[in-house]
Amino acid sequence: MANSFIQKELEELKKKYGTDLPGSELISCHPVSVRIRFVKTQHRQFDVCVQFSEKYPTTPIIIELKSKTIPEKLLAGLTNLSDEEAKKLLGKQQVLPVMKFLWQFLNDNPFTVCSEELSYIKKSLITDKDEIKTKQKSGVITMTINQDNYYFQLKFTVPEDYPCTQVSIEERGNNFPKHFSTVFISQAVELARRQIQPPLKKKPKDPPFEPKPSLKLVAEFLVKDCVRRYPKEPCQICKENGFPPDPKSVVTDESSDRFLERVYCAHLYHRGCLDTYMKTPPFTGGKLCPGCKQRIYHGEWNITPKLAEDRWAHKEAKRRELDEVVDFLE
Ligand SMILES: [Zn+2]
Ligand SMILES: [Zn+2]
Repeated sequence: MANSFIQKELEELKKKYGTDLPGSELISCHPVSVRIRFVKTQHRQFDVCVQFSEKYPTTPIIIELKSKTIPEKLLAGLTNLSDEEAKKLLGKQQVLPVMKFLWQFLNDNPFTVCSEELSYIKKSLITDKDEIKTKQKSGVITMTINQDNYYFQLKFTVPEDYPCTQVSIEERGNNFPKHFSTVFISQAVELARRQIQPPLKKKPKDPPFEPKPSLKLVAEFLVKDCVRRYPKEPCQICKENGFPPDPKSVVTDESSDRFLERVYCAHLYHRGCLDTYMKTPPFTGGKLCPGCKQRIYHGEWNITPKLAEDRWAHKEAKRRELDEVVDFLE
């Protein structure tokens, strides 16, 4: 009895899977085991292996999911859900309905391939003071990160063929100085791009380039290295906090000494502090950031050590001349 039930079910499966589960591949279809492959994208794919228990269909089918690209934890969770589906169908055909359930899940969830990244973001980047919302079907994650009196709203979209295509990043509002928020986003976009595009200069020993996931990387950069960091970041010279407690009092006049500069190494300087520092010796080897000992690159003070030396000498000479005049007058 059980055997003919299974035979009949398998016949129907062969007939129907093409229309009911478009894009799937029936790899094996025997009373011993059924294996069907779902491929949504290069990374969103898995095999479903089904075995019939001895008392089938009065007991549920045994389901196993296999995938090289979907995280183990998600596969385990999905297997549990499929078991539950099968248990609802005792006494009836179970294979096709369970397959449909899994096929639907794979189609509807761009997050399948980044479930671990997403749970990292929720656990390690977001606090009680922040907000995060996810829209499974469209692959959209929105978050508001709050740090002191500053906030930054972000929208990430996980594309269909993630991670081959990078996550897209949008700024949806913030109260950081404009020249900071713009750089945060453009650097995040650049980080994401490097995950999926091979470097222009390839070193001979490099392994073949593989696209890598970008969601966790950019979220971590934006949250930790940008939004959480700067409201507490001191000026490297005077060691005072750069960002004022009230975001409304941020200095926007680019020529002001209190204007905030973020240099190449990401350290923070008051414009006035940086200007004095860049014009004061020693100049050999270029001016180094006191915070990280990296060379300071900044469009405006980007001059050779020789030129800086000359300028400083000139300024000193001027000052001495003035001093002498003052001395003379006294
Ligand atoms: Zn300063
Ligand atoms: Zn630095």
